[in-house]
Amino acid sequence: MRDQVKDLYVGVDVGGTKIQASLITGSGSVLASNRRNTPRNCPSELTLDVIEESICELLSLQDHSLDQLSGVGIAAPGVVCSETGNIVVTPNMNLSGVELGRIMRERLGGVRVEVGNDCNLGVLGECWLGSGRSANMAVGIFVGTGIGAGIVKDHRLILGAGQSAGEIGHIVLQVPCESWRMQLRLKKGGRKRAKQSNFAEHKIKTKKAKTAKKTVINGGLVQCGCGNYGCFETLASRSAIERYIREAIACGAKSAIVDYNGGKLDVIKSGSIAKALKGGDEVVTVIVNYAATVIGYACLTVRHLLDPDVIMLGGGVIEACQKYMMPVIESVTESDRLQYAPCSRRILVSSLGDSAVVLGAVALVRSAESNMFDQICESIPKYPHILMLADDVIHIDDIAYTSDILILSDGAIHARPKSPKKEPDGFRFKDIEMVVQGGTDILILATPAAEKINLSEKCRDYLYRRGIDYRILQLKEAVQLYNNFNGRRSAVFHFNIENF
Ligand SMILES: [Zn+2]
Repeated sequence: MRDQVKDLYVGVDVGGTKIQASLITGSGSVLASNRRNTPRNCPSELTLDVIEESICELLSLQDHSLDQLSGVGIAAPGVVCSETGNIVVTPNMNLSGVELGRIMRERLGGVRVEVGNDCNLGVLGECWLGSGRSANMAVGIFVGTGIGAGIVKDHRLILGAGQSAGEIGHIVLQVPCESWRMQLRLKKGGRKRAKQSNFAEHKIKTKKAKTAKKTVINGGLVQCGCGNYGCFETLASRSAIERYIREAIACGAKSAIVDYNGGKLDVIKSGSIAKALKGGDEVVTVIVNYAATVIGYACLTVRHLLDPDVIMLGGGVIEACQKYMMPVIESVTESDRLQYAPCSRRILVSSLGDSAVVLGAVALVRSAESNMFDQICESIPKYPHILMLADDVIHIDDIAYTSDILILSDGAIHARPKSPKKEPDGFRFKDIEMVVQGGTDILILATPAAEKINLSEKCRDYLYRRGIDYRILQLKEAVQLYNNFNGRRSAVFHFNIENF
C-alpha cells in the first residue's frame, strides 16, 4: 500500500436500486468496490442485512476484517440526521425512521459508523479530492432523475436546523400564482380586459398528448416529487427533459431521439439525449439548451445567495451532455448584471464520478474523528521518487522505464497501453482521463517534443472544467516538478516522438 495514512475505511452508497460498498484508504484511494441490488418491497431488516453483507463480503474478498477498519460511512437518500445517524425520511425505500447508524454500529462489532445524505456526501467527496479541492466554500448540484445538491464550507457540510439545507432542486423558480395583472384581468394600458386567464388548467391541444396532460396542472406548472410546484427540479432534471421531449413529440415535432432510444420514450436515457445532441437533432437541442439555461439561472441564484468559490455540476445529465450544456450555463452566469457580482468564481464539472459519494462518506467519518479535517485535506498518497540518470530512461524503485508510462493520482504506475489510434496532438484523451481519476492538483505531461505540442481542445476542455492545472515539459523538468510538487499529482511520460 502506497499511503502514508494506513487507516482503512468503508464507504457505502445506499441507493434506490444499488448498494455500493467501497474499501478506501485514509488518503482516498478506492481499493475495491462491491455492488448489490437494493431489495424492494421488503421489511427494512432485509435492507440492513444486504448493507451488512456487502461490507463483510467486500472485506473478506480483500483479506481484511472488521477490526482493521477505522470507520464506516453510509450515504442514503432523503433527510438524514448526521448527529444521530437516524434516517428521518427516505423516498422510495424502506429505511424511513430507521436508526441506521446505531443498528449498523451494533451489527459491525462496534466500529465507528457515520450516516449522511447521499448528495451532501457527494459534494463532501468532491471537496476532499475532486473539483472542490481548493474551495473554502463549494456548492454541488447533481442533475439526474431529480436534482440533488449540497453545500460545504471549510470542509464541513452545512446541514441547517432540520438537516435539510442545500435542497437547491426544490428552490421555486416558477411561482405558482397568477400575476396581479391576470387576477385583475388587465392588459397593458388597461384599455381592454385581458382574455380569460390561462392559469386554470393548461390544455395541450393535440389529442395524442393525453399522458403529458395528466401531470400538467396549475397553468403549466408541474408538481414536483416534493409536493410543491415550480421547483428547479421540475424544470431542468432528466425527468423534466424527458417530459419536454414526450410533449414535443406528442404535439407533432419530429425527432430522431425515438430511434436513439430504441423506439420507446417511457424512459429516455442521458446517453440517448447526448447522441441526439451530437446528431444535431433540433427538438432535443432546443430542449437541452432550455434546461441548461434554467440550470444557469439556478447557479446565478446560488451565487447571489452564498457567493461560493466553486459551483460543481455533476450527475448523469451533466456527464453525458456537458459539452453542450456547460457553455450555455456559463453564458447565463457570465451575463450577470448585478454590480459587484463575482465573475471570477468558477463553475466546474464534478470529477469523481461514481466514487464521489463513497469518498464523501469516508470524509464524513474522518471529519467526525477528533479534529481530523486538516489531516483530511493534507493526506496525500505516498508518491514514487523518480530518478533520471540518462536522457531517455527514468528509474522508479529500482526499475528502469524506457517506454511510455502513466503515474496515477494515487502514485500507481501503469505502462501506457499500446495506442491503436494515433492522436495528432501527442497526448491521448484516454490516458489523461485515466491518470487524473481520483483527484489531482496538477497533471505533468513529459515529452521530448514539449515545445512543439499542445493538448487537443477536448483534453484542455476536460481539465479546465475540472479545475486541474497542467504542464507540458521536457522529461528532465517533468521529473523535477513531479518530485518537488507539494500536492496531489498525476503524470504521463512519453519517451520518444514516434510513439505518438
Ligand atoms: Zn420540489
